[in-house]
Amino acid sequence: MKASLDRVVERLKAARRALVIGHVRPDGDAIGSVAALTLILRWLGKEAEGCIPDPVPWFYREIPGTRVLRSVEELRGREFDTTVVVDTSSLSRIGTAAELLSGQEPDVVIDHHVTNTGFGALNFCDPSYAAVALIVHEIGKRLVEYDRELAELLLLGLATDTGFFKYGNVDAQVFEAAAELTRQGASIQPIASAVLEHRTPNTMRLLVEMLSTLQLEAGGQLAYAYVSADMLRRTGCSEEDTEGFVGELRAIHGVEVAVLFSEWPEGEVHVSLRSKSYADVSRVALAFGGGGHPRAAGCTLKVARLAAAIPPIVAAARRLLEGG
Ligand code: 5GP
Ligand code: MN
Repeated sequence: MKASLDRVVERLKAARRALVIGHVRPDGDAIGSVAALTLILRWLGKEAEGCIPDPVPWFYREIPGTRVLRSVEELRGREFDTTVVVDTSSLSRIGTAAELLSGQEPDVVIDHHVTNTGFGALNFCDPSYAAVALIVHEIGKRLVEYDRELAELLLLGLATDTGFFKYGNVDAQVFEAAAELTRQGASIQPIASAVLEHRTPNTMRLLVEMLSTLQLEAGGQLAYAYVSADMLRRTGCSEEDTEGFVGELRAIHGVEVAVLFSEWPEGEVHVSLRSKSYADVSRVALAFGGGGHPRAAGCTLKVARLAAAIPPIVAAARRLLEGG
């Protein structure tokens, strides 16, 4: 059922033992929103846990509030009367955390993806919010006093989903919320440093390898490249080290659509799609069983080799640019 924010707030207030879940391959918005909502519920006197189904990339751990996050293993067997899924467009995106729902639909879904399927008992999904952290902020400010840690988690989500305040989803509401969170003690510098300045020498070697696979098509409007399992092994990197790589492809002058193919985990190819100003890449992701936003979307193909994933996606991206 589609729910108003008031309904969601009432449902959260009724919780006693709550579980908040984010998506696989977590980004800053999922991490910040899950941790922040968990803290808000705890301050309301509830037993609350926050779960991220995949390992949280190490550099996000520099943000102190992320210590509340738990893995699926750590929460196995626990009972909850209220389950909340955030920043997630479909149930399959919570991966192994599905087992914590014991076959029930989530009680509340809070999201901002245009492709959200409405898989909860109560669904609040509004794509006009630049980040789910903004929705959690709307909820949080009605319920609790913030401390620095909570404000920082929300600013983390807001900053990452707006590309540190430079994407087309940045409006006055985003800056107003950023100012509120800054007044409550959050500081953008440690967040920017953790998220944007964490590349290791090995990651830089992987970036060089990735850039050496760069292809440009459609008169320079389409850029694509890949990270193979072999490249990860050679450089001693893991998939989380590719965070931000697709942004380097989009940063090329004249590029509208950027695509990064990552061969990870074994037997799968993850496709990250980005656009700069007008192309709706969520349409390509949806056509291949994924989803996302108009300017940032993704899908995962169950194919054994990169060579099988690249041509169909590139053809679809070309058609998108041709207006098809
Ligand atoms: P990324 O390219 O960083 O993995 O993901 C970009 C955006 O696309 C995120 O908003 C993410 O939620 C969405 N996304 C990425 N992969 C998938 C997928 O396999 N399925 C769905 N539904 N969405 C995805
Ligand atoms: Mn988000």
